[in-house]
Amino acid sequence: MSKKQFKTESKKLLDLMIHSIYTHREIFLRELISNASDAIDKRYYAAMQRGETGVDKSQFEIRLEPNKAERTLSIIDNGCGMSASELEQNLGTIAKSGTQAFRAEHENAEDIDIIGKFGVGFYAAFMVAKKVTVYSHKEGEEAAVWESEGEDGYTVKPASYEPIGTKIVLTLKDDGEEESYGEFLEAFRLESLVKKYSDYVRYPIRMQVERSRKKKDSDEYETFVEDRTLNSQVPLWRKNRNEISKEEYARFYRDAFHAYEDPASTLHINTEGMLSYTALLFIPKNAPFDFNTKEYKRGLKLYANGVMIMEHCEELLPEYFNFVQGLVDSPDLSLNISRELLQHDRQLSAIANNLKKKILSELLRMQREDREAYNEFYKAFGRTLKFGVYDKFGANKDFLKDTLMFYSRKEEKPITLKEYVDAMPEAQKAIYYAAGDTLAQVKKLPQAERVADMGYDILCLTEDVDEFALRILESYQEKPFKSVSDPDLDLNTDEEKKAMEQRAEEAKPLLARIKAALGDSVRDVKLTDRLKNTAAFLSGGEGMSVEMFKVLRSMPNGASLPMTFTLELNPDHPVYAKLKDLDDETLKEYAKLLLAQAKLVAGLPLDDPAAFAEAVLKLM
Ligand code: ADP
Repeated sequence: MSKKQFKTESKKLLDLMIHSIYTHREIFLRELISNASDAIDKRYYAAMQRGETGVDKSQFEIRLEPNKAERTLSIIDNGCGMSASELEQNLGTIAKSGTQAFRAEHENAEDIDIIGKFGVGFYAAFMVAKKVTVYSHKEGEEAAVWESEGEDGYTVKPASYEPIGTKIVLTLKDDGEEESYGEFLEAFRLESLVKKYSDYVRYPIRMQVERSRKKKDSDEYETFVEDRTLNSQVPLWRKNRNEISKEEYARFYRDAFHAYEDPASTLHINTEGMLSYTALLFIPKNAPFDFNTKEYKRGLKLYANGVMIMEHCEELLPEYFNFVQGLVDSPDLSLNISRELLQHDRQLSAIANNLKKKILSELLRMQREDREAYNEFYKAFGRTLKFGVYDKFGANKDFLKDTLMFYSRKEEKPITLKEYVDAMPEAQKAIYYAAGDTLAQVKKLPQAERVADMGYDILCLTEDVDEFALRILESYQEKPFKSVSDPDLDLNTDEEKKAMEQRAEEAKPLLARIKAALGDSVRDVKLTDRLKNTAAFLSGGEGMSVEMFKVLRSMPNGASLPMTFTLELNPDHPVYAKLKDLDDETLKEYAKLLLAQAKLVAGLPLDDPAAFAEAVLKLM
């Protein structure tokens, strides 16, 4: 029988497994046991859905069978099993998540740490085995066997394997100088691996263990075989909170959610009464590698009385908290409820509602009590929260507004909106912000000079979503948000306003000449009192700032958006004084230069950079 080839991506992952770092290899057992446990869940769940309420849960088990003579280790479950075509489908291609992880990481061939970081699943078997044989029998199907010795492909054949479920036989690799695979045949080693990685698996993991005892009425010892259950089977979340150490939570998080570092925060919630459920939630420190891809699945694991019924229940988490990992276990959920019905379950939405409040108050607690941790978290997920404020026309803005932080020009660090408002001088009426591509650019925005000069702090916005989020919020504690580029900053006294109006009146002929010189490349030319040391800046219009135009332009179909702005001139700047006396030809050149340098400062592209460079050189 000819061998079938693995899919390309699978082949690469397989290759990585085969050549993995030795110290990582012990996790193969965790991966196979976790698959076995899932398979039992699936069998039990399917029986429940068929209405077979009489299924005896105690019959389920996962068995380890080391065989030193054959140098094999078998992992046996009586779960759902796989048909020949399922063997082919499931084991011939790796899970998509694995593929992604692989792609992301393999660019850097030296970083083999992928195994520690991501769940690698079934293929982990090849870290310790030179040959993997999978016997499987699914109810109502013929039994089959899948076999592979690694990279050169696999075979699937009919087999005689009576029990329902799966038996995975690993023929261990030969021991090397520094690597001993034989250790995975030792009972004590297997037992400690189960304790370390799989203790909370809900089905008993059993193994026959040889032990010795004193013979009765004699000093001699005899060996006997004992069937031992290696795991405690109590899911971590079912244990008493006081009995769980921080390390245990962290280990569970890493194992169950394929995380590679401890969580920023852990929430263990136990609720009884009208609504009974246990939730174990983790707020990660950093975004997982696929967080911003379509591959990322949000949602919590959902258990009905200890049996997992859904891997990613989206209904339990609002999108703006999609970074939260965890699970919910409720005794009130019926096991034979269909997934479709579950999605409209009132109970589920009541749980979701509670959870989002708990998550919010945990985030705010972190923000208050451990700002450093919150800063780190915010770096990873602040953008998600800001989108949450903006999304759905601001439906959740009030709920989320206190989670937000923006960089303070004065404090030189991110601050909350409340901190900004609390520090406002009495006379200050609005919350000022400036937007740009980078912090360095925003801090130097010419139009911010006047506001900063008043002694007011300015929030520096550098992400595309920032200004949209603030505009949707409109105000915080009744203080409106105001861009330093807003045409109506309203910082002047009546006298100052009058003086400015008069200057504007006088400047009209000159401004008209400049507008004529620049033509359609500007919307308008005006005087401004907002600048101190700079000659000119560009402002948006129609309720949109230059920054918002930039964001919209970068979106699909955005290219057609006109990019013409108003050129605002500082009448106190020496350059302005010069303009008046220029002839039309020179005025045109100066105006073009002013516009170009204002564009550069605003982070906008020049239409003709070569012409700009030439004009500058000519002046020099
Ligand atoms: P993942 O578990 O992430 O989906 P794996 O590579 O570990 O990826 O497994 C691929 C698929 O093979 C699983 O999704 C499951 O459908 C099937 N599978 C693996 N092990 C077993 C088993 N012991 N019993 C039944 N099905 C299994």
